[in-house]
Amino acid sequence: MTETKLNHIAGEWVSGGSEIENRNPSDLSDLVGRFAQATPDQLDTALDAAIAAQAEWAAYGLERKQAVLMSIGTEMMARAEELGTLLSREEGKPLAEGKGEVYRAGQFFTYYAHEILRQLGENADSVRPGIEVDIRRDPVGTVAVISPWNFPTATASWKIAPALAFGNAVIWKPANLTPASAHALTEIITRQDIPKGLFQLVMGAGRDVGQRLVESPKVDAISFTGSVPVGKGIAAAAIGNLTRVQMEMGSKNALAVMDDADLDLAVTLALGGAFGGSGQKCTASSRLIVHDAIHDAFVDKLVAGAKAMKVGHALAEGTQMGPVVSEQQLAENLAYVELGKSEGAELACGGARLTMETEGYFMSPGVFLNTTNQMRINREEMFAPLASVIRVGSYDEALATVNDTDFGLVSGIVTRNLARATDFRRKAQTGVVTVNLPTAGTDYHVPFGGRGLSSYGPREQGTYAREFYTSVKTSYIAS
Ligand code: NAP
Repeated sequence: MTETKLNHIAGEWVSGGSEIENRNPSDLSDLVGRFAQATPDQLDTALDAAIAAQAEWAAYGLERKQAVLMSIGTEMMARAEELGTLLSREEGKPLAEGKGEVYRAGQFFTYYAHEILRQLGENADSVRPGIEVDIRRDPVGTVAVISPWNFPTATASWKIAPALAFGNAVIWKPANLTPASAHALTEIITRQDIPKGLFQLVMGAGRDVGQRLVESPKVDAISFTGSVPVGKGIAAAAIGNLTRVQMEMGSKNALAVMDDADLDLAVTLALGGAFGGSGQKCTASSRLIVHDAIHDAFVDKLVAGAKAMKVGHALAEGTQMGPVVSEQQLAENLAYVELGKSEGAELACGGARLTMETEGYFMSPGVFLNTTNQMRINREEMFAPLASVIRVGSYDEALATVNDTDFGLVSGIVTRNLARATDFRRKAQTGVVTVNLPTAGTDYHVPFGGRGLSSYGPREQGTYAREFYTSVKTSYIAS
C-alpha cells in the first residue's frame, strides 16, 4: 500500500480529510502517489500559524534568511536529476525538461538569497526644515501561492523564493494534478531553519481549498498562475477583501515568420514553440503567422518536422514530446481538432490520440493550415500540441495579426532585417518580445509577464518582484 503524502501545516505533517491518487500520464499503471487533501479547519489553522511565523521570520537576521534560501536552492540543483524525474513522471514533460525545470527553480532560490542583501531603502530631505525622510520596505505578511501543473516546480518557486526573501510567510496551494513535485519541494523547504508555519503546504481542489484560501481576509497577497477564468474568479474574491493580487495567465502567442527569415531556424523555433511540453506552455507559439513568399516552403518543412517528432513516455530515451497531462486535457484537445476542422481549417497532420506500449494520454502534434485569425482555434488558448498557420501578405499585416488577440504574453519574429526586428520590438503589444528566438524560455533576473488577459498586477521575477512582496513605509524623523 502506497503511503499517503501529507500536508505541512503549523510545522507538522498532517493527514487530510480525504486523499487523491496521482498517476503517471505516460503510463496509467504507474501510481505516482496518494496525497492528502486539506480540510477547511486545517486551512484556518495554517492561516493563523502563518501570522506568528511571519513575525518571527521578519526578525531573523539577513544572513540567517539568506542561508535558508541558499540551502533550498543548492539542494534543488544538486537533486535536479531525482526531482526532475519525479516531475516528468507526474506531469509528462520529457526528462531533460523536467530536470532543467528543477535546476532552474533552484536558481530562483539562490538568486533571491542574494537579493536579501540588496534590499536598500531610499532617503530624502523633507520640505519641512529639520526633518529627514526615509523610505523602506516591509514584508506584506501572508502570501497565498496558487500554482499550475504545467511548470509545477518553476512557477511555484518564482513566487515562493521572493515571498520568503522579502520576509513573508507562504501558504502554497499547488495544482492537484502535480502534488508529488509540490510535496518534494515542501520537504526541502520545511527542513530548513525556519519558524514553524512560515511555509505551509495545503493540497486540495482549487474550487475548495483554493477558493477558501483566496477568500480569506487573513491573506495579505495572492500570487496566482493559471487560466484566465480561474484568475478572474480569484481577482473578484481578492477585491472583496482588498487583497493585493498578482496573476499570470494564459495566452495565444504568435511567431511571425518573415519572407527574409532563415527558413530552418524558423521551422526549428515553430516546432519547439508549438510542441515543446506538448504545447502546454503559457508561452507556446500556437499561432504561426507566415509571409506569403516563404509560406509553402515553411509549411512543407513544418509538417515534415511535426510528423517526424518522437512522441513517447516522458522518461524514455529520445522522447521529444511526452503525453498531455490528463484525460480531460486530451479530450479538450481532440474537441479543438474537430472545432478547427468545422471552422474550415485544413488539418495537415496529427491531432489524433496515439496508442503506445503503455496506456497514457498521448497525441500526435497537429498542424492546421489555411486558418484565419478570427477562427476560435486562433483566439482561444488550447493548451495543446496544435499549431495554426496564418498566411499574411506583408510585414504590416503580420504585425497587425500578432496584435489582434485578447491576450498579450509573448510574441516573436523571425527575420534577418534589423529595421523590421526593431519595429517589431517597439510595436508588438506583449509583455515579452523575442527576435530569432523561441517564444518560450525566460531568464529569472529580468521581469516576466504579459498584457491584456495574460497578466494582472505587478510583474514577476528579478528585482521587479519586490513591488509585489513588499509594502512601502515612509518615515519622518526630526533631526
Ligand atoms: P487552472 O485550472 O487555472 O489552475 C491553476 C491553479 O488554480 C491550480 O492550483 C488550481 O487548483 C487552482 N484553482 C482552481 N480553481 C480555483 C479557485 N476557484 N480558487 C483558487 N484556486 C483555484 O490552470 P492550470 O490548468 O493548472 O494551468 C494551465 C493554465 O496556466 C494555462 O492557462 C496557462 O497558460 C497558465 N499558465 C500561465 C503561466 C504564465 O506565467 N503566464 C505559466 C504557466 C501556466 P486545481 O489544480 O485543484 O484545479
